[in-house]
Amino acid sequence: MFFLESRSNKSGGLNIGLMGGTFDPIHMGHLVTAEEARQQFDLDYVIFVPAGIPPHKDEAAISLPEHRYLMTSLAVMSNPSFFVSRMEIDQEQPTYTIDTVRHFACGNEPGPEIFFITGADAILEIFTWKDYEDLLRLCTFIAVSRPGYSLDRFYESLDRSCPDMRHKVHLLEIPALAVSSTFIRERVALSKTIKYLTPEPVEQYIRKHGLYKSGG
Ligand code: NAP
Repeated sequence: MFFLESRSNKSGGLNIGLMGGTFDPIHMGHLVTAEEARQQFDLDYVIFVPAGIPPHKDEAAISLPEHRYLMTSLAVMSNPSFFVSRMEIDQEQPTYTIDTVRHFACGNEPGPEIFFITGADAILEIFTWKDYEDLLRLCTFIAVSRPGYSLDRFYESLDRSCPDMRHKVHLLEIPALAVSSTFIRERVALSKTIKYLTPEPVEQYIRKHGLYKSGG
């Protein structure tokens, strides 16, 4: 549980950004995204939530949760508005965003407004997520993409499934998202430099623990 100091707010509560992702590894694109979302959506804090066992992924294909948590912690340590949660990585069973959002939506009074930030490609699949209608009621989504992405077809599906919910999904275009975790893993496997693609402590962590040597 996070106990966050209440700093501002129109409705008396906090605006909390939950940055959801696998972060295997975290990179500059994620950090630029979180900072841009913080400013554009007037967020008091951004809490990075590395995914535990994602329900839609092969567990063996991703790095250990503890590695992803520690790399994320190293990456955010210099930003006073950024935090990292162990909420998902400490679960032994697959984790669902609805449980994470419910966790952060209660316990802080007055109730915070939750913004769930993640890749637009992931949000396109939201109709397959557990309790997605409740999720859309409980939080606002920030769908992140590189410039030129369109959510038009997604909004058409949203109109059919959940009318009047367009205002709950915003597109945030981030040029720095040309960097991706896949790109970094591939470069490490080819012994290519990843300098300036991820913070230096993360780069050192990857080298020290021999992560991504076999690609993937
Ligand atoms: P993913 O399929 O690994 O990623 C899809 C795309 O989004 C990739 O291009 C990825 O780039 C990008 N991305 C992921 N997180 C991002 C972020 N925070 N900011 C910017 N770009 C991001 O997606 P995932 O990481 O597995 O899932 C994303 C989130 O959705 C997680 O929090 C996950 O738990 C949640 N989710 C929930 C459910 C459910 O509740 N049923 C189902 C699916 C996903 P990078 O690889 O460079 O990050």
